[in-house]
Amino acid sequence: MASAIHPEVAGLLARSHRLGSDPRNTNYAGGNTSAKGTTTDPVTGGETELLWVKGSGGDLGTLKAEGLAALRLDRLRALKAVYPGVEREDEMVAAFDYCLHGKGGAAPSIDTAMHGLVDAAHVDHLHPDSGIALACAADGEKLTAECFGDKVVWVPWRRPGFQLGLDIAAIKEANPQAIGCVLGGHGVTAWGGTSEECEANSLHIIRTAEAFLAEKGRPEPFGPVTEGHEPLPDDERRARAAALAPHVRAVASADFPQVGHFTDSEVVLDFLSRAEHPRLAALGTSCPDHFLRTKVRPLVLDLPADAPLEQAVARLAELHTEYRAEYRAYYERHAVAGSPAMRGADPAIVLVPGVGMFSFGKDKQTARVAGEFYVNAINVMRGAEAVSSYSPIEESEKFRIEYWDLEEAKLRRMPAPKPLATRVALVTGAGSGIGRAVAGRLVADGACVVVADLDGTAAATVAEELGGPDRAVAVTVDVTSEEQIAHAFREAVLAFGGVDLVVNNAGISISKPLLETTAKDWDLQHDIMARGSFLVSREAARVMIAQKLGGDIIYIASKNGVFAGPNNIAYGATKADQAHQVRLLAAELGEHGIRVNGVNPDGVVRGSGIFAHGWGAQRAAVYGVEEDKLGEFYAQRTLLKREVLPEHVANAVFALTGGDLSHTTGLHIPVDAGVAAAFLR
Ligand code: NAD
Repeated sequence: MASAIHPEVAGLLARSHRLGSDPRNTNYAGGNTSAKGTTTDPVTGGETELLWVKGSGGDLGTLKAEGLAALRLDRLRALKAVYPGVEREDEMVAAFDYCLHGKGGAAPSIDTAMHGLVDAAHVDHLHPDSGIALACAADGEKLTAECFGDKVVWVPWRRPGFQLGLDIAAIKEANPQAIGCVLGGHGVTAWGGTSEECEANSLHIIRTAEAFLAEKGRPEPFGPVTEGHEPLPDDERRARAAALAPHVRAVASADFPQVGHFTDSEVVLDFLSRAEHPRLAALGTSCPDHFLRTKVRPLVLDLPADAPLEQAVARLAELHTEYRAEYRAYYERHAVAGSPAMRGADPAIVLVPGVGMFSFGKDKQTARVAGEFYVNAINVMRGAEAVSSYSPIEESEKFRIEYWDLEEAKLRRMPAPKPLATRVALVTGAGSGIGRAVAGRLVADGACVVVADLDGTAAATVAEELGGPDRAVAVTVDVTSEEQIAHAFREAVLAFGGVDLVVNNAGISISKPLLETTAKDWDLQHDIMARGSFLVSREAARVMIAQKLGGDIIYIASKNGVFAGPNNIAYGATKADQAHQVRLLAAELGEHGIRVNGVNPDGVVRGSGIFAHGWGAQRAAVYGVEEDKLGEFYAQRTLLKREVLPEHVANAVFALTGGDLSHTTGLHIPVDAGVAAAFLR
């Protein structure tokens, strides 16, 4: 039965979008909103009361009707009678499923009770930095009264769940004058008889808290600037961040490889320049949403910004060892029989004074959001310290949330990661042809890709096609330039935290007989392919060795590196050079877990810029066929009589890097539809 969207749902979505699109109102994917209303019960034909509430996951700013859970209010309210008490409140989440109205929609979240049990037609539960600042201030209750009078009520910390819903419902009933409450250690909840009233109440609470912190707050809540912790000048700062990035990634990836995100926003640099940042960072983050993504506390490098790089790297390693020991101790202090196993002891946030913040996650979006959450946490700490002192919830409560059974169940329900998840690839010449197909395949299988090409416009177009900055970024690079290659790798590590998979693909082709081949032709071919891939591999190895995560280097060589094709001295010779680099580097880099392999394509006419820009015409002339028949001509001279496309080469790159060939290095895979003269032996 298709039905038009209910007016309450339309109003709820519009309100959620307005609230969720302003970061002052709630953190990414944080908070939830609801509306109650009546609809016709398709079973009885009578009226029934429903609750529409944002379900588990998703973000308010982009909430869709499918992201809502629709529940029968009579049944939801009836749960109060069977509620077994706070010790067993988690069981109520499963009971929500028995209150659902029809199929579809999102799974009801833990906050469903709060929305259903509070006696108001509209409820917003939000995580604004200003509200959490009051919620995490040592004397938050007193400050809430000072800020709002009796209009907003203090609710002491209680972790999200059925009991919190009952508490808030009781508080509303006992305080008919109240428009909402501040939830200690957590966030705010507002209500209203209409959607407009509820939204106005939410905004009143958030803006009043902001104004209160601004007016009553003392200047410099993070203390004075510490000498040596001031931000480095822009260029120096980014260069330093890039030099540190692979080492920082090693610190974040000892248990599980992680993708990184870097930010040097003013908020972060200011916090790190101030005297109080070590004390505050050690107190950890606050709102439940925050520390699920940021871990209970960050790792903070305790050196001046201009300390020698080697000293910073050595200190990071020491701090990492300490961090892991402390994290294990935290786990052991709080774990009980039946607690989920420890999920890894590496930090998710690494703070480097004068430089910025590195944040990590299982993919780029998660890493970026972890960083955003730490910025939220900085704002919270600033607000709380301005009017009081920052006092987040007890460590034992943080542990209960981090290792909550419900959270664990959510993690278990996640689909298995794609084969190249967490891997960061850099593909040269990815603006066209084979490189573009390789970049597409790597992204499709979960990698983050740096699309590197001499043609910056083409690279940008490909990166955009592949889904934009959380998946692919473009960088303009001429692989004949050491400086530009170093720059490309700096951009790569700042975009994704590091590099694990490099494809040497950039190339051009000049087909000429010996006597017509100029020294310039020879040099150009060799500069781009032999020298260019040597330089790219050298830079790649520097990053990979620092990361301690192994890696893959792939050379897109050629059948012509093996087979003495006609009129092909410069191209064939430089391809043979590349092929030998595969063997030499496989031998040299094996001890670091870096595998080096090659692919030998042939006759990839369609999509290839090389063929379109002259080489095709030259080869067609050499073989005496029409240029537009060249693909077919190549196909006919193969053993399989098949035309080779860029995707076939990309498949070989995936086969070498996707995990199944984990014990293979120094290999070349022909992708030529079978050319006996180019068989490897
Ligand atoms: P293509 O022209 O479509 O792509 C090559 C890309 O490399 C282009 O985007 C170009 O801008 C880029 N490039 C050129 N010079 C560069 C430089 N100095 N720095 C950075 N980027 C540069 O060609 P394609 O057919 O996709 O070839 C890709 C690779 O595959 C080449 O190494 C080629 O030799 C090899 N290959 C191709 C075939 C084939 O049949 N097409 C066969 C064997 C090997």
